[in-house]
Amino acid sequence: MLEKFSHFFWRKKQRWLYGLLSVVTALSLWLGTAQTSQGISLIELILRGAQIIQLSTISDKQEVSLGSQINEQITVQLARRGTPIVKDPALIHYVEQIGNRLIPHSDRPDIPYTFQVVADPAVNAFATMGGFVYVNLGLMALANNEAELASVVSHEIGHITGRHAIKQMKERAITQGLLSAAGLDTSQAVQIGVQLALSLPNSRGDELDADKTGLQTLREAGYAPQAMVSFMTKLGQQGGARVPTILSTHPATGDRVRILQTLLQESPPQPNEVGGTDDRSYENFMRRYI
Ligand SMILES: [Zn+2]
Repeated sequence: MLEKFSHFFWRKKQRWLYGLLSVVTALSLWLGTAQTSQGISLIELILRGAQIIQLSTISDKQEVSLGSQINEQITVQLARRGTPIVKDPALIHYVEQIGNRLIPHSDRPDIPYTFQVVADPAVNAFATMGGFVYVNLGLMALANNEAELASVVSHEIGHITGRHAIKQMKERAITQGLLSAAGLDTSQAVQIGVQLALSLPNSRGDELDADKTGLQTLREAGYAPQAMVSFMTKLGQQGGARVPTILSTHPATGDRVRILQTLLQESPPQPNEVGGTDDRSYENFMRRYI
């Protein structure tokens, strides 16, 4: 009796196994076209346990999750370089309140944002997808007031709302032959994301786009929009060995200043757009950190 049953179950199991095998075979055939230029098929990636992300149709939730993984790696790399993320609560709160004032006036107020300060004397700021913005202490020290700092934060938010990192990631994945029809391996996506945030230049087009949307957000949040022009002019004037790091990832300062000036001439600052221009209180706050 028992034997009969076990035989029955084995028969059933066998049928199920054959069914699965035929599905796998069909899938392999169908996915045969989904090869990367390095010849890795999707089936291989699945068997290796890789997670695949489709950049063209990435949802906000997936973008935030990928951004969090990139942020984790950026945090590790910054610490290794001796320029870690600052833990000081008052400083973090200060940059957060600037970000939180800007976000509702951006084009993407509905994703979570994370604002962080990097203990690096180099003048730089950067962002990655999914709402992660980083500002170096060196940049905070160069700013004369909150509005100038806010202009940089607003520009970085502009990169996130413009989904520039996703577009750049896709371009790099294609160039490096890493993109299959099914998408990109998540761990490779994270690697590219870290490189983009820490060392690769933004395109001129993305810079101008982030300036334009950043200026709009800055104004709507009630900050003085001239601060974006004055800070960028200051960046351009830093010469020799003091050329700010931000210029290697944010090119074309001269053009950008001219375009911003034209935008402000076409639409002059309104009486309510005067926030963040108290140089003295900014200096007093920053004195503790520089
Ligand atoms: Zn930029």
